[in-house]
Amino acid sequence: MLNIAVAGGGIGGLASALAVARAGHTAHVLERNAEFAELGAGIQLAPNAFRALRRLGVAGPVEERAVRVDALRLLDADSGALLAEMALGDAYLSRFGDPYAVVQRGDLHSALLSACKEHERVVMHPGTAVTGYRDTPDAVHVATAGGRTVVADALVGADGIRSRVRARMLGDGPPRVSGHTIHRTVVPMTEVPAELRWNTVNLWAGPGWHMVHYPIANGEKLNLAVTRDDGARTAVAGVPTGRDEVLAAFPSLHPQARALLGLGRDWRTWVLCDRPPTATWTEGRVCLTGDAAHAMLQYAAQGACMALEDAVVLGEVLEGTSADVAGCLARFAALRGERAARVQEVSSWMGHALYHPRGAAAAERDAMLAALSQDDLLTAVDWLHGHDVDDPAHRGAARTAVLT
Ligand SMILES: Cc1cc2nc3c(=O)[nH]c(=O)nc-3n(C[C@H](O)[C@H](O)[C@H](O)COP(=O)(O)OP(=O)(O)OC[C@H]3O[C@@H](n4cnc5c(N)ncnc54)[C@H](O)[C@@H]3O)c2cc1C
Repeated sequence: MLNIAVAGGGIGGLASALAVARAGHTAHVLERNAEFAELGAGIQLAPNAFRALRRLGVAGPVEERAVRVDALRLLDADSGALLAEMALGDAYLSRFGDPYAVVQRGDLHSALLSACKEHERVVMHPGTAVTGYRDTPDAVHVATAGGRTVVADALVGADGIRSRVRARMLGDGPPRVSGHTIHRTVVPMTEVPAELRWNTVNLWAGPGWHMVHYPIANGEKLNLAVTRDDGARTAVAGVPTGRDEVLAAFPSLHPQARALLGLGRDWRTWVLCDRPPTATWTEGRVCLTGDAAHAMLQYAAQGACMALEDAVVLGEVLEGTSADVAGCLARFAALRGERAARVQEVSSWMGHALYHPRGAAAAERDAMLAALSQDDLLTAVDWLHGHDVDDPAHRGAARTAVLT
């Protein structure tokens, strides 16, 4: 069978390695860091992600640490009015078959990492930064920072938004700076007043900014994030930020949300980036996946979900194959490109039209949301949350968004 090099040991890279190993090949995960690790922050997983995790054999351990939330709620950050609420109970479960849940990133990453470590056909190479590749008709030669060249039958570029594999393939420069600054932290739940321990994903929408909070880590912690459309032009990643600075940036928050914001201590700041969709995900024996292929803003909470879906499809196209690797990878890109591009576009739209509108645009949003029934809300997310990565009928353009 094939030897497949995977650049990057994040959620996308580990899921890809697991998928190709389960398809009968040997995966070599080349991770630049000495340790395989993820941030302490939270991540939302919709049913489309749970279906992919189930297919990868790791849904169980992820569900064990996940919090099944009762609803997704959009609140007016000034008045506290509930603008929309999608219940995630019986009607949601019976429509989509899998839960919507929130997890600590590390819990998802470590479930994938353990499965990779336990799989006899996954070989981990920490401290191995990929710097480029040379594709030939017989093999791909993967260059690493240490000067070592790894020769493989295929290379999967799962090395994130600043992918070196993508740079070599597309040469399309650094990612696009969104002009949105996010501050993130995690608070022990014991510090959260009992009346604010809501078992929901909550988004407080203000003019040009929003705040999100939800429980993670089996309910032991609260994930907090506040984002402002401040026109920042320089990408920033994980810079420690003082509590007073964060509080001062959001003075007009509703008292309940402000009480939660005030609990944050170890804030870190990012300036968010994304990339416009691209039609090119492959070059011969090399393909892109996860954020390397389709980096998106976080507003649809789907970047990692898409990376998990990618992994399943990658495993499927390579199953039982030992020839025509380039053809298989081209098929992978054809199966995934349109859906991922749609999610990239919807993510930007959600930030602009749902989370950050001001004045008349905000009033228009409120009226639009007020007119939607529970069933309308479920129909609006059907193409996204209802996607079954295993079902060929769910591929291509047939399932489009209703809301946009
Ligand atoms: C604020 C925020 C909130 C989000 N919330 C959600 C959410 O709720 N739900 C959701 O589904 N998604 C969410 N996302 C998106 C999600 O985090 C990403 O889409 C996902 O983590 C991408 O995984 P990845 O493995 O493709 O990339 P990454 O997580 O970036 O992993 C890349 C890996 O490659 C390694 N690497 C990089 N360069 C090299 C190299 N040259 N050689 C070797 N290794 C290399 C890195 O060290 C890293 O381990 C959110 C994103 C943000 C910013």
